[in-house]
Amino acid sequence: MNTISATSAPTIPSLREARAFAGRKHRLFIGGNWVDPAEGQGFATSDPATGEKLGEIPRGSDVDVDRAVAAARKAMEDPAWRDMKPAQRARLMERLADAMESAMDELGVLESLDNGKSLRDARNFDLPHAIATVRYNAGWATKLTGETISLSGPGNWHAFTLKEPVGVVAQIVPWNAPLAMACAKIAPALAAGCAVILKPAEETSLTALRLAEIIAEIGFPDGVFNLITGYGEEVGAALTAHPGVDKVTFTGSTEVGRHILKAAAGNFKRVTLELGGKTPVIIMPDADVSKATMGAAMSIFANAGQICNAGSRLFVHERHFEEVVDGVAKIAEGIKLGGGLDPDTQMGPVISSAQRNRIHDYIDGGLADGASLRTGGKRLERTGNFVPPTVLTGTSAEMAVRREEIFGPVLCAMSFSEDDLDAIAAEANASDYGLGAVVWTSNLSAAHGLARKLKAGTVRVNGGGLDPALPFGGFKQSGWGRENGREGLEAYTETKSVAISY
Ligand code: NAD
Repeated sequence: MNTISATSAPTIPSLREARAFAGRKHRLFIGGNWVDPAEGQGFATSDPATGEKLGEIPRGSDVDVDRAVAAARKAMEDPAWRDMKPAQRARLMERLADAMESAMDELGVLESLDNGKSLRDARNFDLPHAIATVRYNAGWATKLTGETISLSGPGNWHAFTLKEPVGVVAQIVPWNAPLAMACAKIAPALAAGCAVILKPAEETSLTALRLAEIIAEIGFPDGVFNLITGYGEEVGAALTAHPGVDKVTFTGSTEVGRHILKAAAGNFKRVTLELGGKTPVIIMPDADVSKATMGAAMSIFANAGQICNAGSRLFVHERHFEEVVDGVAKIAEGIKLGGGLDPDTQMGPVISSAQRNRIHDYIDGGLADGASLRTGGKRLERTGNFVPPTVLTGTSAEMAVRREEIFGPVLCAMSFSEDDLDAIAAEANASDYGLGAVVWTSNLSAAHGLARKLKAGTVRVNGGGLDPALPFGGFKQSGWGRENGREGLEAYTETKSVAISY
């Protein structure tokens, strides 16, 4: 059975600084100044492993949104930012990455405390990824170019395109990888020359507040970066509807994504949406079974399944089904649950008790519909929002547990008997989502064939993770547009065509 460990570890570097930071008075960052929220309120943020209050987060309102939009608009007209040379933008961003690196221990502890994820994951994944994203996009600042175009009409023309910053961008992020998500949004926007208003998730605002403090010391002109903490229905909705915002980029649930699309229609904001997923993992008959088993387990249990791209539907060729499902169940049973700061913890709690209950409702619903429980599934009698890694078999395509995004450590495992790639892809594609897909195979034709047939924004074959150079986003109801790579940067630009007669 999974063991559960105690939560405190007194010798962790930067724990004292992180706790002191969490507990102190926080403000919003608007136009280069730290300001109290107009309505003067706050709300608690707590450790999901213990329920302990960590600090008080300022509750922004539409008045603060007005102030931030005005500051960001001013920054877009300020020659200090508007006319800044690309190499200088790149230098500022490199400086930001360096400063984040220096604060890495503290940022990692803050992320672990606030989100519940293990410190190991925060240090080995979230922080390095966030910093790499800032560096990667710093490199783009000097490489953003338009093109020259030959026109066919009468006369002599020099025609070309300019890539101009889209303007003021509202960036709304979720709680599952708070700092990494924030940097995936801020970095390309700054590289492209936009002004940013960041709204972190209400559950996990601490690393964004610390990041704002770091940014404040880097030397970006006032108003280029603004931070408003607060609730989605208040700050998020006000940003999305604001006529002074030119673009909204959002990562979160498909349901809120729909609200955002509607709210953005008022002034035809540009919109990028990174939404939910129900990623299929396909294990072909020729796969390396031991690697595929470990990969399948990691894909659903990492970050307690709170990953948009979590491999929550496992399709295994019947030849290996029992071996793989047994292997994944054994891995699940060996996972050590505990508080994020415990060095032995392999899986932290989920973000809230509401989320824990929601996950168990899905499991219970699946069992009531006729699924079988291979492992996990039981509500744990202990403090903290812990959910045991769970494997279900015997689900059918119409069950909610198999169809809907759960955002927890719950795997539905199915076997298939066909060798026909179209049939395999059709089963995997039977979802409203299309964010990711994973294939395990040693057959080159199957790898290429499935990569083309799967309807997903990212297809990974035999492992792999996120990379800031690789575009990321969804087909179908998993979103609009892409983050990362050149496409991610260009999403923060408008193309202007210029034709000069000579
Ligand atoms: P959520 O949609 O509830 O909240 C995300 C953010 O939106 C938060 O900052 C929240 O305050 C804000 N928000 C809420 N209501 C709003 C409104 N009416 N207007 C504007 N903003 C509003 O999502 P969550 O529960 O925090 O995160 C989990 C979801 O995020 C999952 O569905 C997951 O798949 C998705 N996600 C997607 C990706 C991706 O890249 N595709 C990555 C991580 C998470």
